[in-house]
Amino acid sequence: MNETLLDVRGVTLQYKTTQSVVTATHRVSFSVHSGDRFVLLGPSGCGKSSLLKAVGGYLPTTEGDIMLNGHRVTGPGPDRMMVFQEFDQLLPWKTVIQNVVFPLLATGRLSRKEATEKARHYINMVGLTRAVDAYPHTLSGGMKQRVAIARGMAMEPKILLMDEPFAALDALTRRTMQDELLRLWDDTRFTVLFVTHSINEAIRIGTRILLLSPHPGQVRAEMNSTDDPARIGELETQIHDLLFA
Ligand code: ADP
Ligand code: MG
Repeated sequence: MNETLLDVRGVTLQYKTTQSVVTATHRVSFSVHSGDRFVLLGPSGCGKSSLLKAVGGYLPTTEGDIMLNGHRVTGPGPDRMMVFQEFDQLLPWKTVIQNVVFPLLATGRLSRKEATEKARHYINMVGLTRAVDAYPHTLSGGMKQRVAIARGMAMEPKILLMDEPFAALDALTRRTMQDELLRLWDDTRFTVLFVTHSINEAIRIGTRILLLSPHPGQVRAEMNSTDDPARIGELETQIHDLLFA
């Protein structure tokens, strides 16, 4: 427990087109330890999604390195699964269980029977036992996000990457989903790198919070979150002041 799992060192990310260069992040460094719920928090456009894409291996670094378990990230892999904000991240022509089984089979490590058993286990964990054979278009937004979480967790990645997964949900469902994620984490202690622009969500979800300044994203502060209801207000104010100073 507690060894460094993900090490992001001085990472600058740029998008280059023929006309221009957009710098998304400037020399961002942070370390995620096994079992962390590590949150990247910052305003829209500060490069949170870009950082997650880089960790996922979809976006090369312009400067700096991303190390996972001591190995440089050079491309995507099943050890890093993503959950996105969008409700359309499931394959619409596959049922819930087929959506979860599909990447498990793609690894070539499991038989269909083993993959199906594992998929069922994780679908049960996210509370969708009765929806295993449903198609995505028949599900609510919250249910679709549960499937995406089950699919990510079923792969048992080294780290689960979540890019504002609850941001498109109504406030009540969002709150429920946050509680459910924490309950899942209590059960299995996976490592999660979670992106949000909500201070409140960062405090609820995170054990560690990295604050990023506006475009281009740079590290403004890193802090521990709190479970203590008496301290939440104080921490919210502190973060707000750091972000908008
Ligand atoms: P966040 O997720 O924090 O809102 P992003 O990582 O999406 O921020 O974007 C960071 C910056 O990079 C923004 O200025 C955005 O416009 C720019 N950007 C993101 N994706 C691209 C892209 N594919 N091409 C060019 N610029 C991009
Ligand atoms: Mg984003």
